[in-house]
This record gives sequence, structure tokens and C-alpha cells, in this order.
Amino acid sequence: MHQDIKEILFTEAQIKQRVQELGRAITRDYAGKPVVLCGILKGAVTFFTDLARTIEAPVQFDFMSCSSYGDGTTSSGSLTIRKDLDTDVRGKDLLVVEDIIDTGVTLSHLVPLLQERGARSVKLATLLSKPSRRQVEVPVTYNGFEIPDAFVVGYGLDYAGLYRNLPYIGVLKENVYQA
Ligand code: 5GP
Repeated sequence: MHQDIKEILFTEAQIKQRVQELGRAITRDYAGKPVVLCGILKGAVTFFTDLARTIEAPVQFDFMSCSSYGDGTTSSGSLTIRKDLDTDVRGKDLLVVEDIIDTGVTLSHLVPLLQERGARSVKLATLLSKPSRRQVEVPVTYNGFEIPDAFVVGYGLDYAGLYRNLPYIGVLKENVYQA
């Protein structure tokens, strides 16, 4: 285990199994209909690529960078779009793929935006969710794991740009971000 990690919440094997379950549910629900997977950069990239390979349907990839977080561990409460989708979403079925839903602020801005652009449907898939932190309710169709209020890294999630390559999800030691 990495020296900055206090505790592993989900191992590589546990994540793999859960991602496969989500992929099976998505495959069943879309029933062969084309779906545009909209990955939220950068944290969702690992989940996105693993999830995409478990979905048996015609899938398109697109990415967006929109976050309410900077380098720290607290929300600024507003959405910044740094990179937009390339896809014209009109009439398309979108599945937004997110790493973690914390306050819900990011997705509460993003989902209406995609609906206003004329998407036929907008559903959400997230690997992690912290229900105790929610400020805005967002309807999540595919949820990997619910976690307590702790700052986690790994499997795509970072702190100050680091730890994304850890193959597991772990709780960061407090002294790392209090230093
Ligand atoms: P929300 O708008 O739901 O509060 O925030 C969602 C975003 O906050 C996530 O996409 C992620 O970038 C960031 N975030 C929230 N909690 C955590 C956490 O525990 N660890 C990391 N690395 N990022 C988090």
C-alpha cells in the first residue's frame, strides 16, 4: 500500500467486479441502442475505460472537463467548464460517467445543460457517491459504491494531481493535505 494511504476502501478486484455489474445493467437497459458515454475528465478516466469495455451496445466516447474542485479538498460551489464535449448531443442518449458525487453541485449544473442542448436522455453513472455530503439531489442510475465522508484517491481520483494511478480506492492520510 502507498505510504500516504490510510486505508484501502475498495481493492482492484472489488472494483472490477462492481464495474462488471454496472456494465451488465447498462447493457440490459440500453438493449442495443446507441449511447454516448460522456466522461468527466480527469478523475473518471479509469472508471470510464473499464466500464466502456463491459458494455455491449454501440458506444461513442466523448469527454468534458468540468469540476467544482481545484487542487484542494473543498468545493468552490460553482461549475467551470474547461473542455466541452465535441458531440452534437441533439437526439442522443447520453450516459455521463463521473468518478464521485460529493455535494452533487457539479452534476446539478451539468445535467440540465445537456438537456437544454437537446439530448434525448441524460443518465448518470458514478463509481462512488458520498450521500452524507449531498447538497443537491441528483438522480443517479448507476452507482458503484456509497462511501462515508472521507477524501479518497486512486483509480483515477487525485489529490493535487497525484495518486490517480493507484489501482485501488484509498483514504488519504490527513497529514498529506494538512501539511
Ligand atoms: P460535487 O460537485 O459532487 O461536490 O463534486 C464532484 C467532484 O468533486 C468529483 O468529480 C471530484 O473531482 C471531486 N471530489 C469530491 N470528493 C472527492 C474525493 O473524496 N476525492 C477526490 N479525489 N475528489 C473528490
